[in-house]
Amino acid sequence: MSKRSTVGRLAETDALTLFPEGMAKGNSKAARHAERVLLQTVRSEICKVAAAHAAHVDEDARFPVEAFAALKKAGLLGIMVPSELGGMEAPIRVIAEICSLLAQNCSSTGMCYAMHQIKASSLVMHAMDDEWHRGFMRRMVAEQLLLGSATTEGGGVGGDLRTSNCGIDAQGSVFALRKEGCLISYGIQADAILITARRTPESPPSDQVMAVMTRDQYTLELTQVWNTLGMRGTCSNNFTFEGAAPVEQVIPASFADIAAQSMLAYAHILWAATWYGIAANAVYRAETFVHAEARRRPGTVPPGAMRLAELLNSLQQFRALILASIDRYERAKGDPDELSSISFVVALNGTKVSASEAACDIIQHAFLICGIHGYRNDSPHSLGRHLRDAMSSRIMINNDRILGNVSNLLSVYKHNPSLAA
Ligand SMILES: Cc1cc2nc3c(=O)[nH]c(=O)nc-3n(C[C@H](O)[C@H](O)[C@H](O)COP(=O)(O)OP(=O)(O)OC[C@H]3O[C@@H](n4cnc5c(N)ncnc54)[C@H](O)[C@@H]3O)c2cc1C
Repeated sequence: MSKRSTVGRLAETDALTLFPEGMAKGNSKAARHAERVLLQTVRSEICKVAAAHAAHVDEDARFPVEAFAALKKAGLLGIMVPSELGGMEAPIRVIAEICSLLAQNCSSTGMCYAMHQIKASSLVMHAMDDEWHRGFMRRMVAEQLLLGSATTEGGGVGGDLRTSNCGIDAQGSVFALRKEGCLISYGIQADAILITARRTPESPPSDQVMAVMTRDQYTLELTQVWNTLGMRGTCSNNFTFEGAAPVEQVIPASFADIAAQSMLAYAHILWAATWYGIAANAVYRAETFVHAEARRRPGTVPPGAMRLAELLNSLQQFRALILASIDRYERAKGDPDELSSISFVVALNGTKVSASEAACDIIQHAFLICGIHGYRNDSPHSLGRHLRDAMSSRIMINNDRILGNVSNLLSVYKHNPSLAA
């Protein structure tokens, strides 16, 4: 990231924010104030740290340790945990805004934060009645634990979330688990990994559970290093995972329910918010390029200005998509039938596919505005890293796989054309 971080500008205007301050609906004045202070801390302190190290994180394909130290210092890893367990109980829209703000400054920081929160959502939404998991959530807040995810598997599973080859092998009160071909972002840095597996080694591939295993309970054998085009700081190495833990660490809900009732929405909304942040920063760079051109030739409209007008429309549509998805989720939350309905599944899968397409398209259009200055790596209008990072969005669970899964539902689905739906 260039020295021209967006932080200063973000402090002055809400143009790039998903949620202009004061939009906290139905909250008390004190809660709105706390939310404003929190987001201001993210903008003025944590984003600065993320921006200062973004280029090195990308060049060296290393975890954004500095930004995560700042996030931990501000207590933001336990932000989703309910207040009765010591957390801030932040709603999804606030967490989406933080993902976006971070990604405007360092895409990898934004994505790692999003992935951590997606894992936190599985515990908050499905394990509040379980004593071990309640204790773990308290620890998440007190110790600012970082959660990783191991859903991907080798042996033909790939990104097929609802299939596992490996199984929970319970012997009395302890289970053993070995999972091969896992791609685990920041696997080395994570304090705990939430891992999917068949309920037993003999269960069918889709009869899955998710277990929380802490760093002292497993080993990770590195099988492939993450040397990629973009999102290099996520350090998503491939590993063979092997470990053992008490059976109480298996989340009581089935993974089918976790995937449908919370993970689908949290993953697709928080990923989308992160990609929005990358795109918003590309638009910011195009905008500053047009402003500089206007200053150089007073009295003329720079040629890129019309494209910028188009670009701002596209960014607005992207923002509206995320806000509508959050609204849809908030309305469905707590209603398992609605969350599992075909219309909800189609809508939230559409969020992921559309958001990934929007991010890549917006950055490519910003390229046309900035021209050679966007193409250079040493320019304040450089867009190379934005494009490389955003390219991961289409294949982070391949869009073709998602559209293929959705198409399987369409023979029995009739869409609702109502604007009020
Ligand atoms: C930045 C980043 C971070 C990640 N972090 C993690 C992590 O922490 N933990 C984790 O578990 N995973 C992680 N992943 C991996 C991710 O979850 C997917 O496993 C990975 O993107 C591969 O997805 P895929 O199998 O859908 O597609 P790919 O392996 O890319 O491709 C599968 C191929 O199958 C095709 N295909 C199309 N439709 C179907 C269908 N219906 N069925 C089968 N194949 C189909 C696709 O077009 C494609 O050609 C990460 C990925 C990225 C990019």
